[in-house]
Formats: sequence, structure tokens, C-alpha cells
Amino acid sequence: MQKQISKNHSIVKQNYDWKSQLQSRITTPEDLLQYLPGLPGSQIFKDLYQNVDEFKQLMSHLSSAFRFAVTPYYLGLANPESDRCPILLQILPQKSELKDQVFTRPDPLAEEAHGAVPGLTHRYPDRALWYLSHNCAVYCRFCMRKRKVSRAESVTGRENDEPVFNYIESHKEIKEVILSGGDPLSLSDDTLHSLLIRLKKIEHLSSIRIHTRMPVTLPQRFNETLCAILRESYPVTLVTHFNHPVELTEEAAAAVRNLRMSGVMVLNQSVLLKDINDSVETQESLLLGLLKIGIKPYYLHQCDEVNGVSHFRANIQTGLKIMRDLQGRNPGIAIPRYVLDLPGGGGKVPLENDYQITEGNNTPGPGNSVKVYENWAGDPYVIIGDR
Ligand SMILES: *Cc1c(COP(=O)(O)O)cnc(C)c1O
Ligand code: SF4
Repeated sequence: MQKQISKNHSIVKQNYDWKSQLQSRITTPEDLLQYLPGLPGSQIFKDLYQNVDEFKQLMSHLSSAFRFAVTPYYLGLANPESDRCPILLQILPQKSELKDQVFTRPDPLAEEAHGAVPGLTHRYPDRALWYLSHNCAVYCRFCMRKRKVSRAESVTGRENDEPVFNYIESHKEIKEVILSGGDPLSLSDDTLHSLLIRLKKIEHLSSIRIHTRMPVTLPQRFNETLCAILRESYPVTLVTHFNHPVELTEEAAAAVRNLRMSGVMVLNQSVLLKDINDSVETQESLLLGLLKIGIKPYYLHQCDEVNGVSHFRANIQTGLKIMRDLQGRNPGIAIPRYVLDLPGGGGKVPLENDYQITEGNNTPGPGNSVKVYENWAGDPYVIIGDR
């Protein structure tokens, strides 16, 4: 496991409880410069901004569309001395956000169009996604739900819970409810407790899933109180969002350990991000690091075509090459599925390499087909007959 060594580490009180972490979040350019005095002199800063004035202007301009906020814990992992610090690249507003490519849209996945009742998206017959909150501990600049995440005023209030429950209760084809957001764990323990108890009572549900980035951005959230609530609702699946091995800290490992000890299955989805994790070396160390702290990699997402995130998008060819290089070199349980969420709300499709290289018939007649497959090392293997 990598432990980031950074000069500013000493200012971060690791034993902050989660509420004080949230209360002491860094939200202004002035605070940020105070936390990271080395930032203006760093290469990454020079690459992103002309000078401190431009930085401050951009910060205030861009954060009105999409908030800037970072927990002291997560900022403590940043290292301004690294030219491409993966933490800073995920949180710093930058000019490229203003450039929109023609094919990017605010809601590329048509989540609003597939909204069943306010707050619920029912796209696949068997699963429904419930947006419980628009708040997050840290705001990621590549967020695919930028259109609403971080805007407190756009959140549906708790008075909307009843129509959502009624919808889920009366749609027996729904087998799984996914609590999402924003970050659903920004709700209070009491609210979460009563939501989970009510969901548990719905007979036709086979699974309750929570999508949260808090093991990464606010691992202090996973204290005894929350874990007891999750244990009571056993089995719960939690899908988190680590993007880079520097995020795999001792605190994150402790959070995951608490979750696993409470009977929670912990999975990870990451987004393929240009210059952050789009190399096989980074992916390999992320995936093995996840395994080492008790997380099973679930998805690697192709970055969605959202307004203002084009500069984060690595192309599908790059992703497929990484997946190909991982195959055979990494334990199978450490390999996620690479997926593309189809623009327009088509749902997710797996992006797969083709290992079959030729097909033919050696002699006419049924059962005599020949297929050639290439294994992970690139060696051909012949398969004869129909299978
Ligand atoms: C991604 C997504 C899900 C969950 O899909 P899985 O493949 O089961 O992880 C469910 N509903 C919507 C609308 C989604 O975008
Ligand atoms: S934690 Fe998730 S929902 Fe929140 S800003 Fe980051 S990517 Fe968006």
C-alpha cells in the first residue's frame, strides 16, 4: 500500500471525526493556498494557471457552476511537488472546463428523462437508482452528474421519499435499489437507518446497494455507528470509487476493514482518467492495492460525455489496451469490467477485446469448424469443432 509522503501531511489531524472533517473543508482559493503554500510555485499550478490572480478568478467563476470543496483528509494526500499529482488533478478547477466539445451534454445518460418519480431513475427493468443527496465530501471535477451534484437547492427533499417508496413497492420487477447521489452517506445516520429498514421490508428486493465515494474522500465516516446500521441491514453491497493508488491509505483500509467486518461487500468502480490513471502500471497498482485492502474491482468506466470534462477523457482504444495488458498478468478477481454508458440513456455496455483471431472450416461438414484464439501472451491456439 502506498502512503503518500507530503509536506503538508502534518497539518491534517487524522483523528478528526467525520463531521469535523466536513465542517473544516477547504472551499476557497485563499484557504487552499494556506493549506498548500507550495502550490503557486509548483509545475502543476504553472501548467493550469497563468498566475495566482487567474487561479482565484477561475476558482470563483467555475465553482459557481460546480462547487469546490475538499476534506482536509483528502487534501492531505496531495503532493504539489508531483507534476501530475492525481489528487490535485481530480479536484482543481481548470480552464478546460469552459471548453465544451459539441458532443458533450449536461445529461448525456438521459437520467432525467428516465426518471420514474423525482429522485428515482428506473432505466433497467430490474434496478432502480435513487438520488438521495446532491452533496459530496469532495467534488470531483470529472463528475458525470455535474448538472445537479453540488447544488444544494436542486436536491429533492425528504418529503419525496414516500413517492419513491411507493413506486419501488408497487414495481415488483425491481430487484435491486441503488442508493446514489451525490453521496448518499452525506445523509444523517438516523435518516439512513430508517431508509434501510424500510427497504429491507420490501420482499421483492434481492439487493440493496450503496454508491459512495466516502471510503476515498472521508474514511472517518465509517465509524461504529454507521457500521452497526449497515450490519443490521445485512447483506448490503457498497460500491466505492478509488481512482488512483495514492488514495489507498491506512485510513481508507481501516474504513474498508470496518465495512467488511460488518458484513458489507465492498466493490470499486473507477473512471478512466487521462493523465491520472490511463496507464497499465497505474491500473495494476490500483487494482492490486484494492484487493489488498479487501475490495473487489467491479467497473472501469469510460469517462462520460458530460459538459466540461472532455480534458479528462482517455479514448476507448487506450482503455482496451490497458484491459488487454491486465489480462493474464493480474489475478482474475482483480480485473474490473470496462464499460461505456451509452449516451442518450441506452445503459451500460461492456467494452471487450476480441481474443478470437480467425474462423474457418477445415473440411466441409458440420462440426468441423476451426477457430483460432490468441491467449493473453499473444500466442495462437486452435479450437476444432463446434464449441
Ligand atoms: C449504472 C446504472 C445502474 C447500475 O448498473 P449495474 O450495471 O448494475 O452496476 C442502474 N441504473 C442506472 C440508471 C445506471 O446508470
Ligand atoms: S463523489 Fe461522485 S457524485 Fe460526488 S462529485 Fe465525485 S464523482 Fe460526482
